[in-house]
Amino acid sequence: MFKSTIAAGALALVTLFSSAMPAFAAEASLTTDSSATQLRTITTPIVVSDAEGDALQFMREEEKLAHDVYVTLAEQWGLRVFTNISASEQQHSDAVATLLGRAGLSDPVTGNAVGEFTDPVLQKLYNDLIVQGSKSVADALKVGAAIEEIDIADLQERMAGTTNADILRVYGNLLKGSENHLRSFASTLENQTGEKYVPQYMDQTAYDAILAAAGSGQNSAGGRGGNSRRP
Ligand code: MN
Ligand code: MN
Repeated sequence: MFKSTIAAGALALVTLFSSAMPAFAAEASLTTDSSATQLRTITTPIVVSDAEGDALQFMREEEKLAHDVYVTLAEQWGLRVFTNISASEQQHSDAVATLLGRAGLSDPVTGNAVGEFTDPVLQKLYNDLIVQGSKSVADALKVGAAIEEIDIADLQERMAGTTNADILRVYGNLLKGSENHLRSFASTLENQTGEKYVPQYMDQTAYDAILAAAGSGQNSAGGRGGNSRRP
C-alpha cells in the first residue's frame, strides 16, 4: 500500500507517460526524483512556434471565458451544473497557463477579474453570452452547451495545427472535458425544460456521436461505455 495518494497518483502518471509517450519517460522520472508533487505542475521548458504560442494564449482565455460565464450564470440561476463545470474550467485554464509558463510566454489573464478579457473577440463573446444566458434558465443552459461546442471546435482546430506532444496532451484532456460538459448541459436542459438541445456550431451527426459516446458521469471521461444511459 502506498503511504499517500500523491505517490500512487505520481506512479500512475509516470506509467501513463511511459506507455503513451516514451519520449517523456525521462522527463517524468527526473521530476519524480525531486518531488512527486511536481508532476502535477511540470516546469520543464518547452519550445513552441509563434502560432502555437498564440493558440495557447487564446485557449487560456477561452477556458477562462467558460469559467467566468458559468460562475456568473450559477449566481444568477442557482443551478449546480454551472458551479460543478466552472471548477473544471478553472483547471483547464490553469493547465494552459502551465504550458504558457513552460514556453516562457506571458499570461493574458494576469490582472483580469471575472468577466475581463485581453482578447477583444473573447470580451465581446463573453458580454453577448451573459446577455443571452440571463434571459431564462433554458437560455442559460443553451449558452453553456454553445460554449462547449465552440471550445470543441477551437481545440480541434488547434490540435490539427501542432505536433507538440505536451500541447496535444493538454488539448486532448480539455476536449474530453468539453464533450462531458456538452452532454451535461444538454441533459440538464432536457431534464429542466423538456427541450432537446439542437447543436448551434457542429453538425448534428458529430453532435449525436458525442452524445452517444459516453455517460456524463465524472468517471467516464473519454470512455466509450455505450448509450444505455439515454432513455
Ligand atoms: Mn474547458
Ligand atoms: Mn467545458
